[in-house]
Amino acid sequence: METYLPPDIWKGDMLTDNFGRRFYYLRLSITDVCNFRCNYCLPDGYQCDNTRNFLRVDEIARLAKAFAELGTEKIRITGGEPSLRKDLPEIINICKQTSGIKKVALTSNGFKLPEHLPHWLDAGIDAINISIDSLDPRQFHTITGHNKLEHVLKGIDMALADGRTTVKVNTVLMREYNAYDMQTYLDWLKDTPVTLRFIELMQTGDNKAFFDAQHVQGARIKQQLILDGWLPVLTDKSSGPAQEFYHPDYQGKIGLIMPYSKDFCNSCNRLRVSSLGKLHLCLFGENGLSLREQLQSDDLLPLKEQIVALLGDKKATHFLHEKITGATKHLAMLGG
Ligand code: SAM
Ligand code: SF4
Repeated sequence: METYLPPDIWKGDMLTDNFGRRFYYLRLSITDVCNFRCNYCLPDGYQCDNTRNFLRVDEIARLAKAFAELGTEKIRITGGEPSLRKDLPEIINICKQTSGIKKVALTSNGFKLPEHLPHWLDAGIDAINISIDSLDPRQFHTITGHNKLEHVLKGIDMALADGRTTVKVNTVLMREYNAYDMQTYLDWLKDTPVTLRFIELMQTGDNKAFFDAQHVQGARIKQQLILDGWLPVLTDKSSGPAQEFYHPDYQGKIGLIMPYSKDFCNSCNRLRVSSLGKLHLCLFGENGLSLREQLQSDDLLPLKEQIVALLGDKKATHFLHEKITGATKHLAMLGG
């Protein structure tokens, strides 16, 4: 155990902040480029406004090792669209080989899921989250700019048949695009063993008008689920702020992610690193604090000291209720 790290943050086995929250989980963005134009995220498509000098595999290996030595057990690879990087299987594998990392997950729009899946599985992926904001092909096309629903669903069926990875589906709730049509999701979940997670639309710097028109509260859906006999799933320490429900008549489960609900931030268990190597203490914080210099050396002590020192600034909560979105223009910047 490294006793030279500050004892108020470093409890010997785990990164802990000033509010007693422990951080088991790293969300690592490996690119901010995306090929989709989701109406709530990048409605005008990807606009390059940085150097695209994304973290290299050797830097990712050091980052994973340092976080693992500080108690991180789970890494989620995200983006932008992470599968646009040709070295994604290598990145999955590097994370998977890191001592202490028990779970490697990926969030993707799945645009080439059937083609990519075998490579991700061979690299050791444990969990895949695929974003599907509508089960109606035309609506999916309208939301994302791509007529890909059937292809994505084919990939999900392949993943379920293979059985080596868990599969979750992310659906951002939007008043006029999907929230009115819960029955279609329920019909799908009857025979499909995935966890479908409804995510409340979050306001970002770029989407205020869209947010005001489309935001729907997850609490109403929760109420209806409970009335219909859905029961809460007991969750473990790595599951974070999602609330999950199951029903004896359904193979699938439903999760709700409600960032506007009271106490949402109390169970925060995650830190984020951007594709440019900046540590973000909150999805809706300021610009991020660079770890890039410390990522150049195999001596990981300065990197770990930097992470521990920066964690001291983590705030108790986001300020979304006050409509303060920090420096986050859209979630493709950081990976959600
Ligand atoms: N491109 C990948 C994808 O879409 O799955 C990974 C990156 S995307 C930013 C990660 C997740 O954030 C997706 O599930 C997406 O739907 C969600 N997301 C993006 N913008 C959001 C917003 N404003 N509010 C809530 N969820 C959002
Ligand atoms: Fe791309 Fe994901 Fe944003 Fe959609 S949500 S535009 S797929 S980064």
